[in-house]
Amino acid sequence: MANRNKHLNPNQIYEPERCWVGDNHKIIYHTREEAELAAKVAEYDHNSGPLSVYKCDYGDHYHLSSN
Ligand SMILES: [Zn+2]
Repeated sequence: MANRNKHLNPNQIYEPERCWVGDNHKIIYHTREEAELAAKVAEYDHNSGPLSVYKCDYGDHYHLSSN
């Protein structure tokens, strides 16, 4: 066995990109589909209210908003 899967490649650790919006930082979603999926998961997992997806004013990506 030449492959050793125990070695962790740092490039494979998923770290969500974030963007500062007002006083807090928000996770960046690169597509509307990705954001809508994350909103569904958050509503289910955290019983949060409906989350809406919106295009960021500061970059070519999307965020979730609870209002
Ligand atoms: Zn943003």
